[in-house]
Amino acid sequence: MKFKQLSALALALLLPLTALAEDMLAPALAPSRPKNVIIMIGDGMGPAYTTAYRYFKDNPDTEEVEQTVFDRLLVGMASTYPARVSGYVTDSAAAATALATGSKSYNGAISVDLQKQPLETIMERAKKRGLSTGVAVTCQVNHATPAAFLSHNESRKNYDEIAATYINTDADVLLGGGQKYFTAPMLEAFRNKGYQVINDFNLLQNVTQPKVLGLFADVQLPWAVDEPDAHRLSTMTNKALALLSQNPQGFVLMVEGSQIDWAGHDNDIVAAMGEMDEFAHAVEAVEQYVRSHPDTLMVVTADHNTGGMSIGRDGKYAWYPEVIKAVKASPETLAAKALADDNWPQLLADGLGFAIDDELKARFDHARMQGKDVLAQAIKHEIDLRSNTGWTTSGHTGVDVQVFATGPGAELFIGNQDNTDIANKLVSLLPKPKKATAASVPVPAPAPASAPVSAN
Ligand SMILES: [Zn+2]
Repeated sequence: MKFKQLSALALALLLPLTALAEDMLAPALAPSRPKNVIIMIGDGMGPAYTTAYRYFKDNPDTEEVEQTVFDRLLVGMASTYPARVSGYVTDSAAAATALATGSKSYNGAISVDLQKQPLETIMERAKKRGLSTGVAVTCQVNHATPAAFLSHNESRKNYDEIAATYINTDADVLLGGGQKYFTAPMLEAFRNKGYQVINDFNLLQNVTQPKVLGLFADVQLPWAVDEPDAHRLSTMTNKALALLSQNPQGFVLMVEGSQIDWAGHDNDIVAAMGEMDEFAHAVEAVEQYVRSHPDTLMVVTADHNTGGMSIGRDGKYAWYPEVIKAVKASPETLAAKALADDNWPQLLADGLGFAIDDELKARFDHARMQGKDVLAQAIKHEIDLRSNTGWTTSGHTGVDVQVFATGPGAELFIGNQDNTDIANKLVSLLPKPKKATAASVPVPAPAPASAPVSAN
């Protein structure tokens, strides 16, 4: 007994030493700080979205509910509230400002403080330290989230002003939508600066040089559910990784599943699950990259929650994802097609995957006469009732969001934190600026008298 107590005491005393020794050994085994950092943002992706996605992807023929990539990578939570002046519910601009700069600001701010002065972004810090930078998004590249990583503006609504600043960001890879914001002279300026400029998604696979501006839609990319096999976000992400990893110094890449939020604003569970799947594919692609590049850290989070989606509604303990899975296109697209087709009841029955009885036909007909948007609304409502999905708002909610991470430094993101902490932790992990200090200057070896003089 006494011996046991003694040995327990000895162990307790030894443990910190062992931990210390392990700490000292750790750098030799795996890098303690990453060379590359990938920040992935599911815009509007509150916890209900990752949960719903798990059941949406579940194989109902097996006893267990299969894990998703989000379940695998979950490490913590983050609060999202903006600066005091904007209350507790953030918009995408203030949240992206927090994630890009580590400072809270007002709703609408693009990496500026309350006095509208620029806040240094992680992308700017990365550039100063010799890293490459890039963004890959499914919205226009000058939309709030990518804008806060690349630019500074007093308002997210100043799309043209924001786009005009991109030539000066020196960001190496810019992939997403937004052709309408980039005029011919602006594109010419990019070419003159050494960028390959493309607007055809099929050309992306041929890009090999590290500077590229790829704008693949007038504004945002199409709903993923309308192009189920395209997987544009993971394609852009893989290309961005291939291009950025050419820099031996490392890189910072921001990837956004932009339209999860847009589906949430529309209270559209079909589009929401499509965008979640699109984002999940990109997260899996990055997870694969981190597995084969142990010097890379990935951190995934959401900027806020959108729509107040609920898995179950009206007092009924049930959710039926098979209803959502059976729908073959976005309600928006189905409504547009139904408006242009006299045989619309059959078209909708095929597209929705359920029969349209006389009562439903009368309701859809009434909606159809009021136009595309009202019909889309009626279709979404019917899908919500059948899948038992609820919504509480067409805007954002203030609930905390999840944080997912793997790679060197991932343990810093475990537990509860604020969205500004995420940025500050990421910045603390970036390579130190290459500035010689008294302590780090190596003692120069005496040069031999006949040292060859380098041409450079
Ligand atoms: Zn939003």
